[in-house]
Amino acid sequence: MDEIEFDKQHIWHPYTSVINPDPVYEVVSAKGVHLQLADGRELIDGMSSWWTAIHGYNHPVLNQAIADQTQKMAHIMFGGLTHQPAIKLAKKLIDITCDNLQYVFFSDSGSVSVEVAIKMSLQYWVAQNQPEKNKLLTVNKGYHGDTFGAMAVCDPVSGMHGMFNHALPKHLFADAPECNTHNGNNSTNINSFHSLISQHHHELAAVILEPIVQNAGGMRFYCAEYLQQVRVLCDQFDVLLILDEIATGFGRTGTLFAYEHAHVQPDILTLGKALTGGYMTLAATLASKKVAKGISADGKGLLMHGPTFMANPLACSVANASIELLLSSNWKHTIATIEKQLSSELSPCKQLDVVADVRVKGAIGVVELKNAVNMPEIQAQFIKLGVWIRPFNKLVYLMPPYIINVDELSQLTSAIYQVLSRLPHYQES
Ligand SMILES: *Cc1c(COP(=O)(O)O)cnc(C)c1O
Repeated sequence: MDEIEFDKQHIWHPYTSVINPDPVYEVVSAKGVHLQLADGRELIDGMSSWWTAIHGYNHPVLNQAIADQTQKMAHIMFGGLTHQPAIKLAKKLIDITCDNLQYVFFSDSGSVSVEVAIKMSLQYWVAQNQPEKNKLLTVNKGYHGDTFGAMAVCDPVSGMHGMFNHALPKHLFADAPECNTHNGNNSTNINSFHSLISQHHHELAAVILEPIVQNAGGMRFYCAEYLQQVRVLCDQFDVLLILDEIATGFGRTGTLFAYEHAHVQPDILTLGKALTGGYMTLAATLASKKVAKGISADGKGLLMHGPTFMANPLACSVANASIELLLSSNWKHTIATIEKQLSSELSPCKQLDVVADVRVKGAIGVVELKNAVNMPEIQAQFIKLGVWIRPFNKLVYLMPPYIINVDELSQLTSAIYQVLSRLPHYQES
């Protein structure tokens, strides 16, 4: 059997059916910003493999970090044992995040780091003798992962998990953040959030949200003022604040972490995706001293989590190398340059009648359409133009590797314009 045919008949890809699978394209290698397809075609990657490969593919420094660590050990259990790559990485993460975050829990994927964050918040209140504080408050249009705890705080409608709603714990959802600018001042729709936290704080363990950019739930941006108001309300009503920076961390929005736009500090922070530069699956949950010590307030309070592959040495090594690479580069300037180019080159899309909105934040460029795209069809058109862009729903977006050059980025933006200008005219349904 042809290998692609075998894939079609036997392998699930993300969010697909085995009866009617979407087409998949075989990649044989990748280097820099290019994906090499088995049929010889080469694609410029606009997705950074789901926002992870910030330094591009096959990077000599990252390759070397893995190779060196492989010579020492690929993995050892983290129960009762420790190793240099984990210690070094924990030090780095504590160093580059805000002052209050002093404790690190390593796990194997973003979703699991969110589960751990939720557990931390629940355990914190149990240890404070307030076990009734066990619900979460979040905002609509968020996305926090595909495991059960994380699913329960994803947007209940657009969050891809609607079919599980009957089986998920019930949390509270405020209106998705919105900001309006008048005379240079931002006003927000914090009212909905405010009324929920003031009514329910006695049963709330934590607020969880994605700071400044809501990613897989709709690629929405919101202003720093909203996040500042959330922080103030969490303090006022004694509710912990979990910020999920799995997508926004490591420079993507123009600051190293998106919470820096608002000058706020979370009590718990989740990191993943670009943490290893897209090389290996690794995530981290960071906690403040207050939370970490609070969990163990009674002198025993163990944090009840421990994945088999916790703090995998290969993953920690490549994460250390990736962070060093990022920080030793002129990343702020790089992101600002990408932001400028995305803004100027995507803005012509506003003229197309199928387009509802164009927005750019850091190295994120979004073209929102009025109707959902036919993904297999639009994907094939992008591939014909030599680019890898994978839209979802109404959203055609770019999150390129930071190493992309001007010409390569132009090819991505012009492919978007070309493909969208060929879509059938928008008709009100
Ligand atoms: C991708 C993502 C997750 C889930 O991470 P996985 O590694 O896919 O489990 C959680 N939160 C946010 C904000 C994400 O973008």
